[in-house]
Amino acid sequence: MTALAYVSRAGACGLHSAGWLVLPSGGAISRLPIVDADTKLFARLSCVAADAWARGKGWRLPSVEEYDGLHSAALFIAPCTMPTMAQLAAAGVAANNVKAVDAFRNANMRSLAWCQEHDAAVWDRLKARGWCEESVSNAGKHWANGGAIYGWWRADGSKIQNPSNAHKGSQHTDYATTFHVWRPAEPGDKVEPPKVEPWTHIQARNFTPAERKAVDLVVLHSTENPIRRGVARNVAQWFAGASAPQASSHYVVGPDAVYRCVEERSVAWAAPGANRQGIQIEQVGQAAKTQWNREGEGPEDGLPVLRRSAELVRGICERWSIPVEPLNAADLLAGKRGITTHAAVSAAWKKSTHVDPGCGGDVRWPWELYLSLVRG
Ligand SMILES: [Zn+2]
Repeated sequence: MTALAYVSRAGACGLHSAGWLVLPSGGAISRLPIVDADTKLFARLSCVAADAWARGKGWRLPSVEEYDGLHSAALFIAPCTMPTMAQLAAAGVAANNVKAVDAFRNANMRSLAWCQEHDAAVWDRLKARGWCEESVSNAGKHWANGGAIYGWWRADGSKIQNPSNAHKGSQHTDYATTFHVWRPAEPGDKVEPPKVEPWTHIQARNFTPAERKAVDLVVLHSTENPIRRGVARNVAQWFAGASAPQASSHYVVGPDAVYRCVEERSVAWAAPGANRQGIQIEQVGQAAKTQWNREGEGPEDGLPVLRRSAELVRGICERWSIPVEPLNAADLLAGKRGITTHAAVSAAWKKSTHVDPGCGGDVRWPWELYLSLVRG
């Protein structure tokens, strides 16, 4: 197989932009997948074959970390193809068995005929659901499907996250059939460092998509978990997963990392009364136990979480011109703008009994310390 460096139908779909993203590390990732020069198809390879093909050119498949850079500058496209449900059923492969699905895919993806049949089947579904060709990019097919085979997948078949319904409503699934490649930077490449966001996005399942133009409140919560590394990710994955609660948060902050689960313009479900006008911050910790001003790595040492939370909230206050001022229940009822807690929201609107992130209201929430950290 030979491949063009690159072509795309980016203009037709408006979601994807073309070119190479040149990283400060000296490599470049194709914003859209590689294309077969002979068939004009995006490369139809198994993961193993794609890896070998790229290496033969002195390129390679990007790492998950490099994809993160691509994602923030372009659009994340999963690095491997998933077969259709019908193909799996015909082959007797259980749709919920990732290993078996991956083996099936790798066994079949080498065949152009299989891929064309596969594309036709997917395309039939798209047309049956009323998609028009112009709205569909070859780089990531949009597959309306309530089934189990969707989401973002790593090259090893492990799942990264459920699909976002950000661009096409709740039936939306990005469906990638292709591979991006990484190559060394070439002379003349303009270094274009990806905008590194201090969070990883794991899309929550339950939220209200919106295009908010204004936000009045930052609402602080605690997840009610002992503090340790990995908990923030677990919470974000819980919001995203099949057993997701009827709740979500814009961000989940842990001692080790920050996850974004809902884009700021959309509405997360976390603090009844203050959802529509608020940005919700879940902080790993327990309202009745966490010592939010205490340094350390113990399960109740909250300062590492507090610091990350404050840094995140500084950016939010800047982006939305929210005053760095603490708001109690009376302030909320008076319609003031600023930073508040779930406890204050509960007290103001009596729509929940939650008292997080501090014990019995704001007693143990160190406002002074927190605001000084937010102000930097
Ligand atoms: Zn809460």
